[in-house]
Parts: sequence; C-alpha cells; structure tokens
Amino acid sequence: MSRLMIIGCGGVASVAIHKCCQNSEVFTDIMIASRTVSKCDAIKKELEGKTKTRITTATVNADCVDELVALMNEYKPDAVLNVALPYQDLTIMDACLKAGVNYIDTANYEPEDTDDPEWRRIYEKRCKEEGFTAYFDYSWQWAYKEKFEKAGKMALLGTGFDPGVTSVFAAYALKHYFDEIHTIDILDCNGGDHGYPFATNFNPEINLREVSANGSYWENGHWVETKPMEIKREYDFPQVGEKDMYLLHHEEIESLAKNIPGVKRIRFFMTFGQSYLTHMKCLENVGMLSTSPVEFNGQEIVPIQFLKALLPDPASLGPRTVGKTNIGCIFTGIKDGKEKTIYIYNVCDHQECYKEVGSQAVSYTTGVPAMIGSMLVITGKWSGKGVFNVEEFDPDPYMEALNKWGLPWVVDEAPKTVE
Ligand code: NDP
Repeated sequence: MSRLMIIGCGGVASVAIHKCCQNSEVFTDIMIASRTVSKCDAIKKELEGKTKTRITTATVNADCVDELVALMNEYKPDAVLNVALPYQDLTIMDACLKAGVNYIDTANYEPEDTDDPEWRRIYEKRCKEEGFTAYFDYSWQWAYKEKFEKAGKMALLGTGFDPGVTSVFAAYALKHYFDEIHTIDILDCNGGDHGYPFATNFNPEINLREVSANGSYWENGHWVETKPMEIKREYDFPQVGEKDMYLLHHEEIESLAKNIPGVKRIRFFMTFGQSYLTHMKCLENVGMLSTSPVEFNGQEIVPIQFLKALLPDPASLGPRTVGKTNIGCIFTGIKDGKEKTIYIYNVCDHQECYKEVGSQAVSYTTGVPAMIGSMLVITGKWSGKGVFNVEEFDPDPYMEALNKWGLPWVVDEAPKTVE
C-alpha cells in the first residue's frame, strides 16, 4: 500500500503515470495534480480499467506552497514526484517539508524570471565563484539538506535519464568496473525524426534555454566554460550511426564532480542536426529565446513563452517520431593497476515507446527512471534523511529495474572514445 502524488501532467509525467500503473503492486494509489486538470482526467480515463492502481486527480498551482501543502495534507502521499517544471522545485520542496513528505524530481532548480534582482545577485556571485554561467545549478536544492535531515525526510534529486540514469551508470561503473574513475563522457544522442522543420523533444522553454547557453566541462577541479556549440565531435552511436554532437553544460556534471572521488574530467555531449541549430540561431538572433518580458499591443509577453505556444507540443510528437535514442557514458580509469575503458548505454526506439505508452522516447527515457526512483524511495530500498543525488545510493536495484521496466542497458568493454 503506497501513495504517490505526481505533480505536472506533461510529456514526462504521462510516461511516469503509465509506468506506475504497470507497477500497481508498488503504486497502489497515485494522485495526478497539475495546473490543467483536464489533462490529468484524460490520462485517468485512458488508464482506468487497465490498471489496479487507484488514480485520483486534482488541480494545483505548484508555485503556491499553501495550495500544495493543503493538497498533501488531504491526500497524505508517501512521496511527491515533481515532473512539473524546474521553476517549481523549491516551492514543492518547501511544501514537502511542511507536510512531512519525501520529495523526488528529474531536473534541478532554475528560476522562471532570470531578471529577478534578488536571484541575479546570488547568480552573479556564483558565476564568479564557480566559473559557469548556466541559469540552473544544485546550490539552491542542496541548501535544503539540513531542513530535510531535521524533518526526517528525503529528497531525491534528478531521477530522469540525464541526470538520473547516467549518474547511476557512474555509480555502477565505480562499484563493479573501476578502482578509480578518471574521465566521464556523457553522450546523449537522439537519432529520431519527427518530420517537423523545428520542434523540441521536451518542454521548449527549458530545452532552448539549456542548449543556447554557454557550454562547460569539469577538469582538474574546476569548470572550463565554452561558447555555445563551440566544441563539436562526431561519434558512431551503436544502432543509430554517425552523428555530430556538441558540448553542453549539464547539471549532472556538478553532482558527479562532487560524488565520484578522484574524477579528473567530466564532459556532456548532445547530438543536434544542422536544421535544428540553424533554426535555433535564427530564433535567438531575432530575440525569440529571450526570457525578459516585452510590451506588445498593450500586453506584456515573454518571447520564449510565446514561442512555446507556436511550437508543436512535445507530448504530441509520439505518433510521428521514428528512429532511436542512444544515451550513455564512456568511463576511463584504473582497475587492478591497469587502464580500463567502458561504455554503458541504453538504446530506445521511439515507435516502440509510442506503442507501449503513447509517447516518444525522450519522454519515455525520462518517465521510466522517474517511476524507478519513486519506487526505490517508496519501498525504502533507497532511504536516508536529507537531500541526495541518485549516484549516492547503491546502483544495483536501479540498474536491475531499468532492465525490467523498459530501458535495458549494455556494457561495451572496448568502445571508441571521444577525442
Ligand atoms: P511539459 O511542459 O510537457 O509538462 C510540464 C507540466 O507541468 C505540464 O503539465 C504543466 O501544466 C505543469 N505545470 C507547469 N507549471 C505548473 C504550475 N505552476 N503548477 C502546476 N503544474 C504546472 O514538460 P516535460 O514533461 O517535457 O518536462 C517535465 C520535467 O522533466 C521538466 O522539469 C524537465 O526539465 C524534466 N526533464 C528531465 C529530463 C532528464 O532526463 N532528467 C529530460 C527531459 C525533461 P500545463 O499542462 O497546464 O501546461
């Protein structure tokens, strides 16, 4: 008997909900609570009769702590899975503390309003001290450690694919394959084609903010920052083929640098086609990626939010996307005094995902690990008091669950490396 409250009802949430409902022995009761309750009701209608999980729905504004606390006190969940947006991470964590509930998410905090002077002051200080300029970082959520310890509850951060599975791959590599890990290259390849000239595979606002920002990597104890898309490499991905990939800043670099002892370099690469990059550059050049409000016909609009309204909804890409994703990590290091290199990866087929849960593979590869993280928290297999990243726990039950719940992985002990 367990109760999970799922906040948000977009692309990732839809997959997490389907997977919880396949896993009714663990998730006997779920509540889907989001801004637009009609989306929650539609999923409930689709799944009822096909699952033993009892589904409740509710409307909630996740920016409002009091509303969240009232809903948690009424439903009394064992844990809350936040698959709304990173903007809501802190309000949901505050509410979990007040209601005495465990917290789980897939993406670290970033502010909706990057012009907020109070936030900017702290951000600019961090840019100087840490040496990277991304809008998102873990400091905000790691600062809740003591509060969660005192409340006797846990917060599990970043249980999507990247961060999430990639971080668990690192813990698994360290446990079973290495005495010391020296370098980690995280490779995120989407070989899928949705047939649109331009669309993003998850929330456009979050996605475009991420990929248009400066890149950065961790080397010898500090950050090295690059211009957006400055570092390009090619890689021949198993089951996908040769792709161009670009170095980005990514949040798990920050936590892996802290949690993998002795690691010397961590980089993150994502594949993009030329058409995607040309569209993005053009939109950026005309100001459409801006997060600062502008006056238009007597109304204030935020350009990137307006753009989101024009672009295809990522949740609608499922039926049209064909091809595969390949996401994984190449590790180098030492085992028994000898140099060693391994590549752990998962390949996921967009159309297979669509057949199973009605979503494309980018939502699938995030929603399945969101369910798995929630399962490990709810069953107590992963437990603790405080704020944790996934690589801090025993990776074995997570790796076993990936194989069982639709994301099987491969260990290649003689992979090609990235220059
Ligand atoms: P979507 O935009 O599809 O869904 C977001 C959902 O959150 C929508 O249902 C939206 O409501 C709801 N929501 C937004 N604001 C509020 C609010 N104030 N109160 C209540 N509900 C709200 O996003 P995705 O599903 O693509 O992404 C979800 C999360 O997953 C994001 O945090 C994203 O960064 C993360 N992610 C993580 C990945 C990983 O590998 N770790 C990969 C991909 C995504 P409405 O329906 O009304 O718009």
